[in-house]
Amino acid sequence: MDSSLKEHMEELGITPTQSLGQNFLTDENIANRIVNSAEIKEDETIVEIGPGLGILTERLVKVAGELIIIEKDKKLYEHLENKYTPKGVKVIHGDVLDVDLPEFDKVVSNLPFSISSPITFKLLEQDFKSAVLTYQKEYADRMVAKVGEKNYSRLSVMVSTHTDVNRLFNIPKDRFYPSPKVDATVLKLIPKEPDFDLKYPKVFEEVVRQLFSYRRKMIRNALNTGFGIEKDEKIPYQNKRVGNISPEQINEITDYLVENNVLNI
Ligand code: SAM
Repeated sequence: MDSSLKEHMEELGITPTQSLGQNFLTDENIANRIVNSAEIKEDETIVEIGPGLGILTERLVKVAGELIIIEKDKKLYEHLENKYTPKGVKVIHGDVLDVDLPEFDKVVSNLPFSISSPITFKLLEQDFKSAVLTYQKEYADRMVAKVGEKNYSRLSVMVSTHTDVNRLFNIPKDRFYPSPKVDATVLKLIPKEPDFDLKYPKVFEEVVRQLFSYRRKMIRNALNTGFGIEKDEKIPYQNKRVGNISPEQINEITDYLVENNVLNI
């Protein structure tokens, strides 16, 4: 480990907390790559989630028009506030899952792995240009998986419906202190309109949730177990397996269920 990082933590009286996903990045080159990947323009507002000891913050502050950082750990927050408020950064103390996110253009974060799922779903509801985010590699694999692949999941469907997602690079676990159990992957997400006519987004989300609770079943069986839907020969793709059904096909199923009053949710 970088001894200056250790000294910095001792100075601040910080002992990394596992429940807050405090695995601090120690590699300056990787920090540069992450920030460069966001392609920040000088008039853009950037949000950083979980700035920690500030390895990304010190780079972001140089390139962002406006920088907003959100940190849950009180000691880290106090340190960040003293250091970055005078530089014009808005430093928020709180849980990013509870905070009303301000308007922003881009989000950059070495996410605490403990909140990968809720923060991803929260971000999918926001309007922004792009996100550069670090996830556990296995989680990132599920986010980018395509229909029919081993890791294709509810997460893959929701992420690919609402964003263009690209795998940028992996970060070996020894580039963090303390080292997590698995390697990390940096992804870039660019929000988009769905490629199909998503008329019933809430029902679509619920159909996706139920279908992927029964990933290996046929669609008709998954709909029966999930929603109690009886046999109906007209339901599209009902003899396909859930893991082989594309987001667009799930949308067709959703349209059929809603428009034929098979499902009322
Ligand atoms: N950005 C730093 C880096 O790259 O070294 C720290 C990354 S560390 C993986 C995650 C950071 O998120 C920690 O500083 C942790 O205290 C903070 N954190 C954890 N849960 C959070 C939450 N719910 N809201 C805001 N910050 C959180």
